[in-house]
Amino acid sequence: MIFTNLTRANEIGANSYLLDFGADGRLVLDAGMHPRGEGVAGLPRLELLPFDSVDTILVSHAHHDHTGALPLLMREHPSARVFMSEATYFLADPLLHNSVQVMLKQKAEKGIAEYPLFSHRELDQLVKVWQACGLQREWSPRGYPDPENESLTFQFYDAGHILGSVGTAIRHRGRTIFYTGDVNFTDQTLLRAADFPRSDIDVLITETTRGAQPRPPDFTRGGEVERLAQAIEQTFAQGGAVLMPVFAMGKTQELLAQLHFFQRQRRLPETPIYIGGLGRSFTEIYDRLVARSRRQHARLQMLETIQPQVMDGRRARDFSLKRGHIYLISSGMMTENTLSNIFAQEFLAHERHSVFFVGYCDPESPAGRLRATPRGGEVVLNAQYGAQPVRCRVEHFDFTAHAQREDLADYIVETNPRTCVLVHGDAPALEWFQQELATRAPQMRVIVPTPGEPLEL
Ligand SMILES: [Zn+2]
Ligand SMILES: [Zn+2]
Repeated sequence: MIFTNLTRANEIGANSYLLDFGADGRLVLDAGMHPRGEGVAGLPRLELLPFDSVDTILVSHAHHDHTGALPLLMREHPSARVFMSEATYFLADPLLHNSVQVMLKQKAEKGIAEYPLFSHRELDQLVKVWQACGLQREWSPRGYPDPENESLTFQFYDAGHILGSVGTAIRHRGRTIFYTGDVNFTDQTLLRAADFPRSDIDVLITETTRGAQPRPPDFTRGGEVERLAQAIEQTFAQGGAVLMPVFAMGKTQELLAQLHFFQRQRRLPETPIYIGGLGRSFTEIYDRLVARSRRQHARLQMLETIQPQVMDGRRARDFSLKRGHIYLISSGMMTENTLSNIFAQEFLAHERHSVFFVGYCDPESPAGRLRATPRGGEVVLNAQYGAQPVRCRVEHFDFTAHAQREDLADYIVETNPRTCVLVHGDAPALEWFQQELATRAPQMRVIVPTPGEPLEL
């Protein structure tokens, strides 16, 4: 098998990987878009793939850095079949339509000529090709389950990261290649921990997101939940409101459920929780699939039970925030002109308010800059407004949906693949895994794949 890393750099960017099994098939794992990349520079190196040369596309989950370029990959490979889990099938459609909206907006604002890279109409056609596959079952790349006498098959396993996220086992003539996608080995408020195979893996292709972040010795997720409850109580006690910049999918639903439990436990008053329009759309899909998901609180219908208020993006600038309210709005990285960025203007200037981060943000994004600014310092959230003083409380709570590096290293050592390919991490993260595995599993071949270079595995 020849593996090619189709990303432009070793980083958390536009994920895409080619597995070439020669006459048995050419398969691409994920086709993402870089969270910060603009225009064609934000895409994987799809130009390395000759026209219509891919047979199978497997999508690990409906995050932008894994699916954002899927329409472009499909356009270039019209004969390819596209497979994903059922939840990803439902989530990726609105995600990509939203991406068209964002690109149209950025075209107007920043003059990026090539935007949008695909249209709503094209997307509606491409989605018809997608096929949803049940978990814990082997599939033929020809699109049917439980194949016999096939040289190449695949199987999805719950990855515990967001709804529908999967790790993928690809079996080829007696060998197994396993791609983790984004994985979490800890239960979240809604999602359960990953349910991955732990033996008989020859080649493991694994994410390394948190390689540079050691787990603090006394860290528990429960401890972070408690710390968040206290911080919100303190903010409310001094007459403030809370802004939590979150991704519309995943974090919005996890936090919405968590805040609901705080209210039910009478930790917080039953004040309104606001979410964005896109967050509402994804919450609806979480609700619709509740009975068919591997989830905790398997009867909680969030929209009906919690009744979050929906914030209208168009009216955000006229909105006045109220004490004791919580605003769970995107984007998680506070990208300029998104709801969380616009709304932060109201929070920054007042000591009684709080901005709480609960997930990953790129250090160079507005959210990353705000997180790094001490109270009393100045931050640029929007170039239009220039540097602004930060008077509100800003804090980070670790509600990560990615595996702790220690848990991931344990998983790699336990499954003991002959070859381990490290992807989806920045340089210090990749280095930590290389060193850790050199010590704990010296016999293992550990590879950081150079972008664009074919690698015989
Ligand atoms: Zn993800
Ligand atoms: Zn990712």
